Amino acid sequence: MSSTYNIAIDGPAGAGKSTIAKLVAAKLGFIYVDTGAMYRAMALYFLENGIQPEDEEKVSAACGQIDISLRYQDGVQQVILNGRDVSGKIRTEAVGNAASVVSAYRAVRQALLALQQNLAKTSNVIMDGRDIGTCVLPDAQTKIYLTASSHVRAIRRYKELTEKGQMCNLEEIEQDIIDRDYRDMHREIAPLTQAADAVLLDSSALTIDQVVDGIITAARERGLA
Ligand code: C5P
Repeated sequence: MSSTYNIAIDGPAGAGKSTIAKLVAAKLGFIYVDTGAMYRAMALYFLENGIQPEDEEKVSAACGQIDISLRYQDGVQQVILNGRDVSGKIRTEAVGNAASVVSAYRAVRQALLALQQNLAKTSNVIMDGRDIGTCVLPDAQTKIYLTASSHVRAIRRYKELTEKGQMCNLEEIEQDIIDRDYRDMHREIAPLTQAADAVLLDSSALTIDQVVDGIITAARERGLA
């Protein structure tokens, strides 16, 4: 039995996982591990090196050249790709879409699995992603499946981008979200699905505080002191 306490949060893109997980981590004194950022850093490597995300053979062959690690500065996660902090470069739609394509490949998932599992073995973590409760941390004491309608998620993303001054189109964003969900849910390896023992939270009509409280309550009910 592991001596650390692990909370797994899975769900589709834009459900609010990272916002919520950061707040829960701060309240509980846990480390927040954003696994999507690791897939994004790998995708960035392929894009920067002219490797097409759709070319599974080339992507898989290049995995051996990639070293990903995490660093924490004032509690904020930084993603290090081959020694370089790429945290500021991975948040674009292009990188997110490429991450969604390459994350379906076995070699890419294999490259990140041990890193994710070791973090959870050595620290109390709240880890978010698509396969955390089902594959990465099947023994996590608390598992949450956080979702929201594609329309609500598109509106949130639209607001985020327009606040940053980026031009965007709500319908295109919603279509992107629907396509990404489809790829994440229908891939052969580690598809996005709710673990049998996960608590389902739909954030469409809940405030951030309500979701945070729901997760902390679930963890207390599952042995968190
Ligand atoms: O969560 P985020 O949008 O940053 O993740 C980017 C992509 O990485 C997702 O669309 C998904 O395809 C992939 N991913 C994954 N498994 C995880 C985390 C992310 O396949 N545990």
